[in-house]
Amino acid sequence: MRWTNALINTLRETPKEAETISHKLMLKAGLILKLASGIYDFLPLGWKSVSKVINIIREEMNKAGAQEVLMPVLSPAELWKETGRWDLYGKEMMRIKDRNDNEFALGPTHEEIITDIVRRQINSYRQLPVNLYQIQVKFRDEIRPRFGVMRAREFIMKDAYSFDKNEQEAQKSYRIMFETYNRICKRIGFKFRAVEADTGAIGGTSSAEFMVLADTGEETIIYCPNCDYAANVEKAIGVVDAIGGDAGEKLEKIYTPNIKTVEELAAFVKMKPEDTAKTILYIADGKMYGVMMRGDREINEIKLKNAIGAIDLRLATPEEIESKTHAPVGFAGPINLKEKGIILLIDKTVENMKSLVCGGNEKDYHYIGVMRGRDFKEDKVVDVIKIKAGDGCSKCGSKLKEQKGIEVGHVFFLGTKYSKSMNATFLDEQGKSQYFVMGCYGIGVTRIVAAAIEQNYDENGIIWPVSIAPYEVSIIPVNIKYKEGYEFAEKIYSQLKEKGIDVILDDRDCSPGVKFKDSDLIGFPVKVIIGEKNFKDGKVEIKIRKDGKVKLVDSNKALNEVINTINELKNDFLHN
Ligand code: ATP
Ligand code: MG
Repeated sequence: MRWTNALINTLRETPKEAETISHKLMLKAGLILKLASGIYDFLPLGWKSVSKVINIIREEMNKAGAQEVLMPVLSPAELWKETGRWDLYGKEMMRIKDRNDNEFALGPTHEEIITDIVRRQINSYRQLPVNLYQIQVKFRDEIRPRFGVMRAREFIMKDAYSFDKNEQEAQKSYRIMFETYNRICKRIGFKFRAVEADTGAIGGTSSAEFMVLADTGEETIIYCPNCDYAANVEKAIGVVDAIGGDAGEKLEKIYTPNIKTVEELAAFVKMKPEDTAKTILYIADGKMYGVMMRGDREINEIKLKNAIGAIDLRLATPEEIESKTHAPVGFAGPINLKEKGIILLIDKTVENMKSLVCGGNEKDYHYIGVMRGRDFKEDKVVDVIKIKAGDGCSKCGSKLKEQKGIEVGHVFFLGTKYSKSMNATFLDEQGKSQYFVMGCYGIGVTRIVAAAIEQNYDENGIIWPVSIAPYEVSIIPVNIKYKEGYEFAEKIYSQLKEKGIDVILDDRDCSPGVKFKDSDLIGFPVKVIIGEKNFKDGKVEIKIRKDGKVKLVDSNKALNEVINTINELKNDFLHN
């Protein structure tokens, strides 16, 4: 491509609405254009990167034996009603009606549609296993679309679905996809980690997320530096040090005016926050729960939701709390809570504590010396604490660590969740009807592009991994009016193209500064710079975007040098 023929508009100013590096740089380098909240045009440079991501994914999926299909964006409500997700998906699912008032979803994911295909197409174990995938736009009306294409309302996903005759075979298919996702992330050049994850709205029994490591990531990963344990904090388990919890044996009600927080309470009774227990009130599927945990720890609502099998979970409102407990927010405690019709759960951190300081279920009152068994009895002990760095690894006991990540892919072992609810069956070896055992596997194609930038940039712009750079090489004749130099630029441009290198020739008649700045901002991995003085000495410069290193090479050896440099860089990103 010649720059003068290309649609490339870089911006001088950083757009104000962008919060994250990748969002800023994608707008500034002219990769995307905002159309509406969470909805973006991909301009030629951006689309080139997306296409390269798609190629890598497609190659790896085909290698893994999966077959590509294309399902419609529009899917009839009836299919979603079969699994109950028409109601469960809530507002995130975009819905429309046709002229006859038939309802449709704009596909946020495609389990229902693929299961329908398979139940109509496959009736014998002989046709199994199959793994079907598509690369398709998805629609999700995110509460807060943000960070550009990272959390968009319309985005591209590769989604795959495996169907097997039994659990064991299905585990194999899951494993193959797990390995495939590892390969895709490696080929792109990511520093990443596969972690245990919660199954969320998709459901199923086990799942792993592929996290690109970046300080700007929205996800928190808990990992063990000593063994292979790694999990999303939403799912993480760990061993919490048994500290605190000695508030004496004498139960006493104490007047605690204006005391609202755990810290204030601990200071007031001259104890430590870990000697206190807080009780948080939730509404889960219409019932009120009091969840008691050590005062110095935070709750993990996803673990809580899973522990009680709730579909809908939220904090109780101040009004609901007052009307049930007869005390304002901040004074809930375990004593007599059950008598008020509230289900009492206690976290494991409280289970073995000797005695505690707790809320008194009365404005401005707390209790000290509260003992489990003597003063209250819980309905259930649960593990709902948010694990943090410093807690013990439940596998090997080492101290866990924390890091931030961006989720780019998610693999789920689904089992028969969808095949049962949609009555999708086949005949097994004995001629008996069986439900398909399924897995589903999503990878965010457009999010990958943003994540790659989040991991590779500097103050001048993007530093593309070669695998997904819009162009691998930019050729910069510093001054196009210098004839010999320009002719050489044209020559090496054609030669590189012939060798299959993706190359752009900056044939603009503008200042060298502008050319260098643009090339750095867009982040082409390699520049070939043809300046008059060097060229008269028979030399050109090869400059690497990643580390700024410059090689001065003989112009007649430049072609091979560029090709070698590209190959070295590819390896470099691979071994990252
Ligand atoms: P998140 O927790 O980030 O909302 P999710 O768990 O809803 O993700 P999945 O349903 O597992 O995501 O979708 C598979 C992949 O699709 C994700 O790993 C991510 O890369 C991508 N993805 C999900 N939501 C978005 C979005 N709003 N914009 C861009 N990509 C997305
Ligand atoms: Mg989501």
